[in-house]
Amino acid sequence: MTARVMDGRACARALAAGLADEVARLRDRGGRPGLAIVSAGSDHGAALYGRRLQRLSAEFGIGHAARPLPATATQADLLGVIAELNADPDLSGILVLRPLPPHVDESAVFRALDPAKDVEAVHPENAGLLTLGVPRFVPSTPAAVFHLLDTWLDAAGEDRADFYHRSRIVVVGRSNTVGKPAVALGCAREASVESVDVWADRTGGLGRHTRWADVLVVAAGRPGLIRAEHVTPGAIVIDVGINASTGSDGRVRTVGDVDAASVAPRAGALSPVPGGVGPVTDVWLLRSTVRAASLRPGSDRTLLEVP
Ligand code: NAD
Repeated sequence: MTARVMDGRACARALAAGLADEVARLRDRGGRPGLAIVSAGSDHGAALYGRRLQRLSAEFGIGHAARPLPATATQADLLGVIAELNADPDLSGILVLRPLPPHVDESAVFRALDPAKDVEAVHPENAGLLTLGVPRFVPSTPAAVFHLLDTWLDAAGEDRADFYHRSRIVVVGRSNTVGKPAVALGCAREASVESVDVWADRTGGLGRHTRWADVLVVAAGRPGLIRAEHVTPGAIVIDVGINASTGSDGRVRTVGDVDAASVAPRAGALSPVPGGVGPVTDVWLLRSTVRAASLRPGSDRTLLEVP
């Protein structure tokens, strides 16, 4: 068996077509979608991501404002910027790029966000709503994982509810921004879900967990972590990792957490890196930004049809 490729670019294009219509409808009603991107320091990956989002926002006619701060920015500097952005009526969504400098308390910055503009659901109120299964916003990367998977199931003619009810999902990586919300989304679909972090690997048992999976979601930030022996034959493998790898020719390439060459002959389906989860993530974030522009102040209504 050779895994079929889960084409994230095609999935993103379909999502983008719906987004263009949403932007047009919102503008007809006088809505003003706008994304603020806050960063501190000079992390290469964060800078690339920020620039990509600005380009994409411009393509969709969505306002955008970058607020790059130096690595020496203080907690008070960041909170000051967040307060300004919260009050700006032209900005419906605020994204705080990680990593923040080590002297900054990330959770205090997240708590300062207006929950109605917190499109990545990092404010405790939004993280709580997501865990309860009634999200205001669904964080873009785990949302992209499940949107890609739902799209795949639809194309395969699978009944989604039937598939999730009988399936075992293992999520490798347990960050607040990717792994934990992915677990919440699996639970919302009433699948059986297991969360695995670095300790399972250190205690020698990663494969014991991952081989249990009908769907294996990998978000650890470790290139080549998942190899054929970690995967049960026919499993769907979704690679979230984005890592820079220097080849023997000295060229730097982007690779995932899955060793695609060894896993592809064993898996039923595999999302590639690049071209898998990433493109869907970008469009999803803009979609949340557009939907945030139609939120009334104080509203906690669920914005997205897929929890
Ligand atoms: P993180 O560093 O915040 O968290 C990593 C998690 O993986 C931790 O829970 C850690 O315990 C676990 N882990 C580390 N080594 C492990 C191992 N050997 N075995 C099992 N678990 C292990 O990272 P993050 O922000 O969650 O990102 C994870 C990966 O996803 C990174 O490569 C990142 O670049 C990528 N990412 C991709 C997108 C996208 O749109 N595709 C978006 C965000 C992050």
